[in-house]
Amino acid sequence: MSIEETRALDERYAMPTYPRTPVEFVRGEGARLWDSEGKEYLDFFAGLSVHNAGHCHPRIVEAIADQAATLMGTSNLYLSENAALLAERIANSSLLGRVFLCNSGAEASECAIKLARKYAHGRGIDSPEIVVLDGAFHGRTIAAIAATPKLARDDLFGPLPAGFVPVPRDDPDAVRDAVGKNTAAVMIEPIQGEAGIHPIADEVLVAAREACDESGALLVYDEVQCGMGRTGTLWAFEQLPARPDVMTAAKALGGGLPVGACVTTPEYGEVLTLGDHGSTFAGAPVTAAAALASLGVLSEPALLESVTALGNRFSTGLTALDAVEEVRGRGLMLGAGLADGIDAAAVAANALDRGLVINVPGPSTLRFLPPLVIGEADVDEALEKLEAALGGDAPS
Ligand code: PLP
Repeated sequence: MSIEETRALDERYAMPTYPRTPVEFVRGEGARLWDSEGKEYLDFFAGLSVHNAGHCHPRIVEAIADQAATLMGTSNLYLSENAALLAERIANSSLLGRVFLCNSGAEASECAIKLARKYAHGRGIDSPEIVVLDGAFHGRTIAAIAATPKLARDDLFGPLPAGFVPVPRDDPDAVRDAVGKNTAAVMIEPIQGEAGIHPIADEVLVAAREACDESGALLVYDEVQCGMGRTGTLWAFEQLPARPDVMTAAKALGGGLPVGACVTTPEYGEVLTLGDHGSTFAGAPVTAAAALASLGVLSEPALLESVTALGNRFSTGLTALDAVEEVRGRGLMLGAGLADGIDAAAVAANALDRGLVINVPGPSTLRFLPPLVIGEADVDEALEKLEAALGGDAPS
């Protein structure tokens, strides 16, 4: 099928919820993609922080293929070795409690919200509230948009679930003041990705931790985008001054297949019990096999160290570009604020023409989420292509 035919079908039959760039990638390997016309690209987006292990990593491909040919799933009503191993691996690498497996980041948010509300009801709170930060993104389900201030549109999707209390993302006192006797949780995306890469200040995280400790509320971190090695440690919270009670993960967790997780410390591992929650596909042997392989690749100390070093190299290179006013983020989760008058969408289109895939989370912001398996030469190539893209007209 030609790209024009694909586009026509998509425009006719798919709900028009995405602005699609008219390129179809048909093959990937490591940090490289090829489109339907054979053109090669350097991928600094990784399917929105999904392919952290690189496209078609051989260990992940093999794990999926072997398990797919053996047994894909039998429901959560039966035991599955892969699901049990995956829960163990996620728990032991993070909060040491229990894990609910699911299929996406939004579902992981739902689980965390249900858990926090149920725990609050157990403490005698009839109308539990969840404090959320402006700029955060927690997914697209109805509760997840209620928890995402920018998307909480009652006029479009209301009535939304009540009880979400937004506060400014950079004000420790606002967080402290918002936490009270009805607070079930404070939910934080430690590095806000969709907002254009905004790390939450240590003071805000510490204020949230202290306020939760004083009030009995849970501190929930959404590591759907910033987890899985992206910041140079398997989980972003490992580098932060405050640890959460509950954490969500997804995206790169599944190594390209849909896997999410909500994980707790030991204290909150049995808040959700029999019948409280479920999901048909969650923890299926084939997706769990992919996740185990993805975790295996992304937990390697040498890889994690290289994320920090490559992130520093890229960040230094970005800072040196005249058009870049500010570089934000950690490891290989970086955003660049562009100087006034520069249209980020035009720059990304220019970069794409030059064979570099980057993302535009805002009118004057570029976002970089490359696979973590890149090397120095890839960073340098991305900087060269970006400089050229910032410099002028699209090549013909
Ligand atoms: N949380 C964060 C921080 C995200 O970045 C996203 C997706 O971009 C989600 C939750 C929702 O994940 P999903 O699209 O898998 O539902």
